[in-house]
Amino acid sequence: MAEVLVYVDHVDGAVRKPTLELLTLARRLGDPVALALGAGAQATAPVLAEHGAVKVLTSDAPEYADYLVVPKVDALQAAHELVSPVAVLVPSSAEGKEIAARLAVRIGSGIITDATDLEAGTDGPIATQAAFAASFTTKSRITKGVPVITVKPNSAPVEAAPAAGTVQPLTVSFSAQATGTKVVSRTARESTGRPELTEAAIVVSGGRGVNGAENFHLIEALADSLGAAVGASRAAVDAGWYPHSNQVGQTGKSVSPQLYIANGISGAIQHRAGMQTSKTIIAVNKDAEAPIFDLVDYGIVGDLFNVVPQLTNEINTR
Ligand code: FAD
Repeated sequence: MAEVLVYVDHVDGAVRKPTLELLTLARRLGDPVALALGAGAQATAPVLAEHGAVKVLTSDAPEYADYLVVPKVDALQAAHELVSPVAVLVPSSAEGKEIAARLAVRIGSGIITDATDLEAGTDGPIATQAAFAASFTTKSRITKGVPVITVKPNSAPVEAAPAAGTVQPLTVSFSAQATGTKVVSRTARESTGRPELTEAAIVVSGGRGVNGAENFHLIEALADSLGAAVGASRAAVDAGWYPHSNQVGQTGKSVSPQLYIANGISGAIQHRAGMQTSKTIIAVNKDAEAPIFDLVDYGIVGDLFNVVPQLTNEINTR
């Protein structure tokens, strides 16, 4: 059967959820062959095998941690040459998109970024994407070379599909550019204990209606009752009420959770651009005419200072 190369996103051997989602999609196209790099690469094999990887290529070298993306591109290219896959799938993180784009240039292929679904087609994989601030859904196919596709987190379920997961070390010769940009320091962000915004199954966001940094604890409490990540509109971020790393939208992060709850957010096109592919959308807004109500599945017309604490209490008592 045809093989599909899947780039593994992991932290010291702990495989991140978007990679397991990629394996679900990869199995629609062929047999997934996973590529895990850096410290803990070998430790990823059991979980990758449980989710359908027939083979796990591994490579560990200081270059992966000490330099930016080029060593990883070198490894992905080596894996591509070894496997001759029918497609290369990469998680749609900022780093994933850079790695995928560089690989596509090197192997002379087309690239599709931020796919939200994948299906097998007679002439190659067909990817679904959201276009024009998610006002349209498009289906595209790459017509040149081996398709390189990045897939947004939360686009597919994680499914158990036991496979061999045979570990095979990959030999990688680093290119001259690999050591061109060195990492000089890393600063870990203080952990909030909440899920990563772009990977969370539920996102609870606050906008200008929250009316001050001191009130964001209401949004955080609702998020915590649901095990959700916290998002914010640009108006809330620009006002200094919440960090930019939590901004959702065109100039912030793009999220696609199972559930998105917008509180005191009007629904400007630039905000929609980052959340419109959410599976279920709920808005709390005191203005019944707010544009956000045009795209919601459930809308609550009311003052968030009344509604949000009630919602939080109700969820916490269940
Ligand atoms: P507002 O539009 O002011 O809406 C506040 C809402 O809260 C209103 O609907 C109001 O009825 C409601 N409200 C007020 N009080 C309460 C209450 N007590 N209870 C319930 N509801 C209440 N925006 C983004 O979000 N993300 C982006 O990435 C982004 N990128 C941009 C890029 C460009 C180039 C530009 C030009 C703009 C961008 N914007 C972005 C800004 C965007 O156009 C809007 O200005 C912004 O999204 C508005 O944020 P908001 O909905 O929180 O505020």
